[in-house]
Amino acid sequence: MKDMFRKIEREYELQRDKNRREMESRKEEVYSSVPEIKNIDQCTSTLGFDALKSQIKSPSLDELRKINEDIYALRGEKEKLLLENGYSRNYLDDIYNCEDCKDTGVLEDGSRCHCMQAKIARELYSISNMSYTLTKENFNTFDLGIFSTEIYKSEGISPRENMEMILMLSRKFVKTFYEKNDMNLLFYGATGQGKTFMLNCIAKELLDRNVAVIYQTAFNTIELVEDRKFRRNEVNSVKYSLLFDCELLIIDDLGIEFTNSFSASEIFNIVNTRILRGKKTLISTNLSPNELTQKYTDRVFSRVFQKFEPIKFFGEDLRLKINS
Ligand SMILES: [Zn+2]
Repeated sequence: MKDMFRKIEREYELQRDKNRREMESRKEEVYSSVPEIKNIDQCTSTLGFDALKSQIKSPSLDELRKINEDIYALRGEKEKLLLENGYSRNYLDDIYNCEDCKDTGVLEDGSRCHCMQAKIARELYSISNMSYTLTKENFNTFDLGIFSTEIYKSEGISPRENMEMILMLSRKFVKTFYEKNDMNLLFYGATGQGKTFMLNCIAKELLDRNVAVIYQTAFNTIELVEDRKFRRNEVNSVKYSLLFDCELLIIDDLGIEFTNSFSASEIFNIVNTRILRGKKTLISTNLSPNELTQKYTDRVFSRVFQKFEPIKFFGEDLRLKINS
């Protein structure tokens, strides 16, 4: 875990260096073609320095206001010159990959920036070998052809038609991820219907867009919660806080074993907190919505489920089909 944070810190350093070098070369370029801008920059930094000195000697608001006005005027002149010479207005502003944390990974209130969370999420995927799985299970490798076209009487459509719908919805989930639309999905159906595969498709697509995605089986989630209560280690405490904070949480395989009240309430506490914070969650389960509501009768549970769109997977067991 220490290695992981060191690696991420190094990434930020390289990022900052790269942007700094880019800024230096931009300055050189502009200074040689528009020398007035160089003068303006020099005046500005002298003014800033004067302001600092005078404030230390004899703090006076009037003087400070005057200096700020001068700096502001210089800034206007500089922008005008930049535009006149075919540059964008902010061509010489500091460059950041992430404006929110200025490439430090930390926000002003001390919390982790979303870009840092995304880096951690990506590392966790790679530590757990999930990133290898994602190279095989993603929207590009998804094959509608393996789903039967035979219409299921009880459903009124074929597994393939159903899958087409699910695929469309999953892509929509990705596309509208940053919209505040309360779109949480509950994939349900028997084992071997492609639920985990579809979760992986969504995860891969969003990780590629630098979204902080955390994938946990329901079993691992409970382990994390318990570990935190009883042992506490660093990896798990970072993972634990990400359950609440990450941009997308995927809980795979919520099953019958989680109907004991401790585990259930832990999982629902996490999901409920996320809903209150406007963060999205995907859950897969082999329980039907009916079974879920019977098992989880508590008010919190039913409120949580109301925020999920239930999506049914049905058809043959694909594991048997692929192996045969
Ligand atoms: Zn950031």
